Amino acid sequence: MKKIKIISLIFLVVIGIILINPMRKIKGVMFDQPLDSITIVLDAGHGGYDPGANAEGVNEASLNLAIAKKLESVLVASGATVIMTRESDIDLASDHDGSVKRADMKKRTEILSSEDATFFISLHGNISSDNSCHGSQIYYQIKDQNSKELAMIIQESLAKTTESKYIPVSGDFFVLNNSKNIGVLIEYGFLSNNNELNKLLNDKYQEAIAYSIFEGINNFLKKII
Ligand SMILES: [Zn+2]
Repeated sequence: MKKIKIISLIFLVVIGIILINPMRKIKGVMFDQPLDSITIVLDAGHGGYDPGANAEGVNEASLNLAIAKKLESVLVASGATVIMTRESDIDLASDHDGSVKRADMKKRTEILSSEDATFFISLHGNISSDNSCHGSQIYYQIKDQNSKELAMIIQESLAKTTESKYIPVSGDFFVLNNSKNIGVLIEYGFLSNNNELNKLLNDKYQEAIAYSIFEGINNFLKKII
């Protein structure tokens, strides 16, 4: 008799926990897996002395930061810890005694290598002499299967938003080659394509890009955890 009472009590407690702990819901996105134990480094490429690519007076660095901040918001809202390489229009070469570029990349790579981080995402805008090129491209670390998987899964959702036909490829980039963590470099679109540049300046489109990357991150984590 006593045993049945204890089992009933455990059953009620479990039901209670389920009822008071509903799934998180943010702006129509239903999460079935909180990201509480996940730390992600977000790198808004360039900044400060280095504006990155430029088209029609628009700096890549400012678009990188705008999208990084939107992605940061949705990740934090879902419970993840986010480390930003920069939060404003600055470079990371404050205490350099040689090349500014080298000092900036060294500091950036140090942050991307943060011990607590699960992975990093470096955000960039693209540019091409062929102004019909459009859509997102993602680069992963050479010979790293996890980085490749992360790139493929993010592009699966991001390509729908950016109408991209590009398949992720390995990239010979400083941040990909030198970080101790796995990560990907996302080129969210082409500033050299007028139509895409206009969309990239739109707040709602930036938000759609951030949500698509977030969806990809969530799908990646579901697969590896
Ligand atoms: Zn760039």
